[in-house]
Amino acid sequence: MTKQIYDFSEGNMKMRNLLGGKGANLSEMTNMGLPVPHGFTVTTEACHEYQQTHQLSKHLLNDIDQAIQTLSQQTNKEFNGTSHPLLISVRSGAAISMPGMMDTILNIGLNDQTVVTIAELTHNERFAYDSYRRLLAMFGNVVYGISEASFDQVLTDTKNAHHYESDLDLTVADLKQIVSHFKNIYEISDKGVFPQDPKEQLLAAINAVFDSWNNHRAQIYRRENHISEELGTAVNIQEMVFGNYGENSGTGVAFTRNPSTGEAGLFGEYLLNAQGEDVVAGIRTPQPVATLKASMPDTYEQLLDIANKLETHYREMQDLEFTIEDGRLYLLQTRSGKRTPSAAVKIAVDLVGEGLIDQKTALLRLEPESISKMLHPEFDLHDLKQHNLLTTGLPASPGAASGQVYFTAEDAKRASDAGQKVVLMRSDTSPEDIEGMIVSQAIVTSRGGMTSHAAVVARGMAATGVVGAHELEVDYERKIAKVKGQIIREGDWVSVDGTSGNLYSGMVKTRDATIKGELSAFLNWAKQNSKMGVYTNADTPKDFQKALDFDADGIGLTRTEHMFFKPERLLQMRRLILAEDLQGRKDPLAKLLRMQQGDFYELYKLAGDKEVTIRLLDPPLHEFLPHDEKEIQAVSKQTGISPELLRDRINSLKESNPMLGHRGDRLAVTFPDIYEMQVQAIMNAVIRLAGEGITVQPHIMIPLTDSQAEMAWVRDLVTKQIKQSSNEKSIKVQYTVGTMMEMPRACMTADAIAESSDFFSFGTNDLTQLTFGYSRDDVGSFMPKYIEYGILPADPFQTIDVEGVGELMKIAIEKGRKTKNDLPIGVCGEVGGDPKSIEFFEEIGITYVSCSPYRVPVARLAAAQAHIRHLARQKAVKQPVQPELVSFFVD
Ligand code: ADP
Ligand code: MG
Ligand code: MG
Repeated sequence: MTKQIYDFSEGNMKMRNLLGGKGANLSEMTNMGLPVPHGFTVTTEACHEYQQTHQLSKHLLNDIDQAIQTLSQQTNKEFNGTSHPLLISVRSGAAISMPGMMDTILNIGLNDQTVVTIAELTHNERFAYDSYRRLLAMFGNVVYGISEASFDQVLTDTKNAHHYESDLDLTVADLKQIVSHFKNIYEISDKGVFPQDPKEQLLAAINAVFDSWNNHRAQIYRRENHISEELGTAVNIQEMVFGNYGENSGTGVAFTRNPSTGEAGLFGEYLLNAQGEDVVAGIRTPQPVATLKASMPDTYEQLLDIANKLETHYREMQDLEFTIEDGRLYLLQTRSGKRTPSAAVKIAVDLVGEGLIDQKTALLRLEPESISKMLHPEFDLHDLKQHNLLTTGLPASPGAASGQVYFTAEDAKRASDAGQKVVLMRSDTSPEDIEGMIVSQAIVTSRGGMTSHAAVVARGMAATGVVGAHELEVDYERKIAKVKGQIIREGDWVSVDGTSGNLYSGMVKTRDATIKGELSAFLNWAKQNSKMGVYTNADTPKDFQKALDFDADGIGLTRTEHMFFKPERLLQMRRLILAEDLQGRKDPLAKLLRMQQGDFYELYKLAGDKEVTIRLLDPPLHEFLPHDEKEIQAVSKQTGISPELLRDRINSLKESNPMLGHRGDRLAVTFPDIYEMQVQAIMNAVIRLAGEGITVQPHIMIPLTDSQAEMAWVRDLVTKQIKQSSNEKSIKVQYTVGTMMEMPRACMTADAIAESSDFFSFGTNDLTQLTFGYSRDDVGSFMPKYIEYGILPADPFQTIDVEGVGELMKIAIEKGRKTKNDLPIGVCGEVGGDPKSIEFFEEIGITYVSCSPYRVPVARLAAAQAHIRHLARQKAVKQPVQPELVSFFVD
C-alpha cells in the first residue's frame, strides 16, 4: 500500500506533484521552523483513486484516523473532545495553484456541544458562535451545494434589521440566531442535515474537496490556463488558528513585493477580527499591511522577517496567507505570487540584481506571450483631457482598456460572444464570475482591496483592473451604476486605466507603449542568451521603425506586393497588367520603378547596418485587378480601356486555384520585366545610398521555388540585372539571392536548390497549406471542429505542425546544409512569432525567425528560453538539472 498521508513534518517543497503546492509549501515552512499550525496532507494519488471509485478507500480511512490521532497529540486537543475540542480546516490544494477555484472548509469539529465548550474555555462566546456560523455556511455550500447567497442573505438581513454597519457589530445573540437560521436553510434545501459528528464532517469535507476538482469553474480555469486534468488535488487537514478571536486577532494576505508594479517591499492587506476569505471576498475593506507596524509592531516585524526568509529561500516573490490569533502570528500558505507582466519583469531583473537568481533563471520566469501584453497601448494623454473622469479606485492591474459596461458575468459573456468589447463592473467578483472576467477588456469593482478576487484574477489574466472604486454604487437589479450623481447604464462605454485607477466615460484613444527600464534590460539579456536571430516582416518604414524600436535584428521579409496597393501605384500596376504588348508595359514599369526604388531607399536607410531581405512579387496578378462592375467602370475611366476589354482581360487572368496558379517566380518566367524592374529598383536604392556613403548588401528572396532548374533560371535573371546596374554605375555590390522554402518539392530537393541559393527562408504558411492540402483561405469551415475533436492539436497555421511540416523542414535543412554547411535558414511565416514553434526551430537549427513587429519581443524571449532549455537538456544528459530550467514557471 502506498503512503497516502504525509505529516507536514514529512514533506517538502519538491513534493508538489504528490502533496499539491499548498501541502508541499506548508511542509517546507514547517521544516524551516516557521509558525505553521500542525497538520497533514492527503496526497493527489489518493485523489486519483477517488476519481476512479468515488469513495475513500478503507486503507485511507484508517490512515486518516491515525493522522487525526497524531494531530490530537501534537495539539493537546481532542477531535469531538469534551474538554479541549480540536477544530480543523480541510483545504484543497493542487500541484498548480488555481486560486479560489476549489474549496476549503474552516472550523470543522464544531457542533452544538463543542461550540459551548469552546465558548466556556475561551470566555469568548462571540468568537465561538462566529466560527460556528461560518462552518455552517461553508459546509452547506461546499458539501451540499447550497448557494452562498442564501447564507449571506441572512447576515445581510440581520445587519439591516439592526442598522449595523459591518459584521463586527453582530452580537452573541445575533450570531446564535444566525446559527439557527442557517440550520433552517439546510432543512429547507432538503439536501441533508448538518452532521453533528466531527468525523462525519471531516469525511464529507474531504469527499467534497476531491469532488471540487471537477466543478465547473475549476474546469474552466484549467482549460484557460492549460492545466492538465490529470493532476488532481491534494487535501490539507490542519489545526485551526483564529483570526476572529477579537480585536487583537486578524487575518491577511501579503506579497513580498508589489504584484502590480514589482516594487520591493511587503505589500498586502489584513482585516482585524476576521477569518479566512474575508479579506479576499471583500466583506469589509481591508487595511494595508503597513498599518500593522503601528498597531502590532512586534507582529509586523516578525511578518517582515518571515517574508524575507521565504523570498530568499524560494528565490521568488511570495504570496503569503497569515493569521494573527491574539497577537501570535501563524503562516497558513506561501506560493509564488501571481503578478502582472510588468511586475514579473521588474521582479526578475531585481532578483538578479540582488544575487538571488541568475539571468537564465530570470529569463525563464516570464511567459513570452505576456510580453505582448506589456506592449498594449496606453491612453493618449491628449484625448484623455476630452473625457470625463468618473471616479478613481485602486490600480489593481495596469493597462488601458475601453468597453461597454455589463454588470454580470453572464451578460458580459453574452455581449462578448456577440462581438462587443466589454467592461465587467461589479461591487465585487467571486470565482463563479470567471467566464465573464475572461472575456472582459477590464474589470471594475466598487469594493475590495488590492488582493481581492477581482484584483488577483485581473492580474493573472493581464486584464486591466480597477478595484475598490467606492464612489461607484452598483445596482444589479436596475442594471445601472451610480457615481457622484451620474448614471452608468448597461452598454455604456467607459475607459479604464489600471495604472492610475481612473475610470473615464466614453472611449479614450490609445497610443503605443514603448520598451523602457527593466523590460529593456530584460530583453537585452534575452538577446545575449539566444542563438536564433529575430527579424521582422515589414513592408513600410512605419512598421520597420516599430520593429527597430523593439530591437529587431533587421527585416526577414519585405512583401513587395503590399507596396502596390496605394491608389496611384495600383493604377500603374493595372496599366501594366492590362497592357497588350511590351511597348505598352514600358511606361507603367518606369513609373513603378521610380516609386519602388523610393520604398527600398527608405527601408535601407532606416536599417543602418542591419540586414533587409526583399522578396520579389508573389501573388497572382488578378489580385490587382478590379473585382466588380463598379470597380471596372472606375478603372475604365482611369485607364481609358473600354469596360468590355477590361472584362475580357480579367476573365483571361482568372484561375481555378489562384494560390496554386500563376504567381511567385512563375511570374518571373512569363513576365521577366516585372522582376527586372524590382531588382533595378533595389539596385537604384543601393546606388543612391552608396552615393551617400552608406554600403548596403541587398538580399533578394525568390518566392514559390520548386526546383533547382527554376531557381537557377530566376537567379540568372536577377544577377544579370544586378550586374547590369552595377556596371552602369561602376560600383561593386555584395548581394545574396535566396529562396523561400514553401513547396514540399523544394524541401525534398533542397540539396540541389541550395546550389543556386545563398539562403533559405521557410514560408510556413504556404508550406503548411501544401503539406496538409488545406487551402489557407478556406480552413475556417472545418478547422475549428478538427481542433475541438482533438484531430489536430492546434491550428497548424499558428503553431508549427512538428510531425509533418516540421519533418519536411528537417529534411530541407539537412539537405540544404549538405550542399552548403553554413547555409543561413530562416522562418518567415506566421509561426515565426510563436513561442512553441520557436522552441522547435531551435532544435532543428533554424538561424533566424521573422515575424510581425509586435511579436518581435515575444519571439526574442522565446528564442532565449529555447536556447537556455536546449543547453540545459544537453547538459542533463550528463547530470540532472534544476527542474525550473526544463519545465515552465512552477508556482
Ligand atoms: P484557497 O486555496 O482558496 O486560498 P485556503 O485553503 O488557503 O483556500 O483557505 C483559505 C483561507 O482560510 C486561508 O487563507 C486562511 O485564511 C483560512 N484558513 C485555512 N486553514 C486555516 C487554519 N487552519 N486556521 C486558520 N485559518 C485557516
Ligand atoms: Mg478558497
Ligand atoms: Mg489560500
